[in-house]
Amino acid sequence: MKKPENPIAFIDLAAQQKRLGNSIQKSIEAVLSHGRYVMGPEIDELEEKLAKFAGCKYSVSCASGTDALLMSLLVKEVGKGDAVIVPTFTFVATAEAVVLAGATPIFADVCDDTYNMDANSLLKAINVAKEKGLNLKGIITVDLFGLPADYAAISKIAKENNLFLLDDACQGFGASYNGTRMGAVGDLAATSFFPAKPLGCYGDGGAVFCNSEEDLELLKSVRVHGGGSNKYDNVRIGITGRCDSIQAAVLLQKLTIFEDELKARQMVADRYNAALADVVKVPVVPEGCQSAWAQYTIATDNRDGLGEFLMKENGVPSACYYPIPLHQQTAYKHFPRAEETLAISEKVCNKVISLPMHPYMEDDVQDYIIESVKDFYK
Ligand SMILES: *Cc1c(COP(=O)(O)O)cnc(C)c1O
Repeated sequence: MKKPENPIAFIDLAAQQKRLGNSIQKSIEAVLSHGRYVMGPEIDELEEKLAKFAGCKYSVSCASGTDALLMSLLVKEVGKGDAVIVPTFTFVATAEAVVLAGATPIFADVCDDTYNMDANSLLKAINVAKEKGLNLKGIITVDLFGLPADYAAISKIAKENNLFLLDDACQGFGASYNGTRMGAVGDLAATSFFPAKPLGCYGDGGAVFCNSEEDLELLKSVRVHGGGSNKYDNVRIGITGRCDSIQAAVLLQKLTIFEDELKARQMVADRYNAALADVVKVPVVPEGCQSAWAQYTIATDNRDGLGEFLMKENGVPSACYYPIPLHQQTAYKHFPRAEETLAISEKVCNKVISLPMHPYMEDDVQDYIIESVKDFYK
């Protein structure tokens, strides 16, 4: 196979920018001319469109996915003495937000096939909270790599134990579970618009989704320093959590093609699946789930060898999400966990490797990536 002329992109944001033409410039210029850099008209428009896209009542834009998680926890009045269960195999921000809120994260293991929170490990984590006398308040699910978590099982457990369910949909925006989009599952959902996420802006941004008017008002309050009836009436603890008008302007343009991009991502995933299923473990998508394909992640025994071969011999970039589960991280290892050993996470962190994935991948480039992976196993 002939190596493509241009360097292979892991995520091709330039191709997306080209497709959008000068619409993004125009949208940014509109902000420059009205001058409302903070909470400009783009914010209301974006929030309305995001909520509509997700199929829930309200969305509140904010400064990052991490802030979206933290704001959600503040709204649920999570604080000192409280605990929240999170999966250990995720990006650090899922647990970090719990610690920033002053509470204790309890780590649960994930499933071997989906890499998402294991309902059995969740039940064990609930018992650990009881044993330790922690006031367990909620569960954060993660839609890892864009795949929805096991909501049938986990929503039931949340209800039975009177726990809130917060969806960390930072990778899952655009995905759906039995026809319900991420944003509309759980009590609250948080997403990120970091450039590399399925829907990204040109800096940092995020949003929280909710269905109750009460949560909406609380989210707006914690977004700006816990404001009450006016700006200088502070009734609770909040943050500086606003999204910039310029980022909203960028997102409004990108949202117009997002649906189409999700379809293109699915096509790229389908081609990878068909070609690689015999060679490596390809992603498992349970019945009823539609992934947003934030990452296309395979699993294999010689992950590091494959990654090195792909780059050095073939110029194919890859990435490893995540090499160390959170319960083994220096800053987090003292927090409680469902069991002493979270065996699946400790195993899969050594096997996963993500291949280039974006909606603009040309067939010949993808074929080259596929052949390069196959070459390694010859
Ligand atoms: C990216 C990400 C976050 C944090 O989002 P930021 O916008 O970078 O703060 C949180 N959780 C998960 C699972 C993520 O992938």
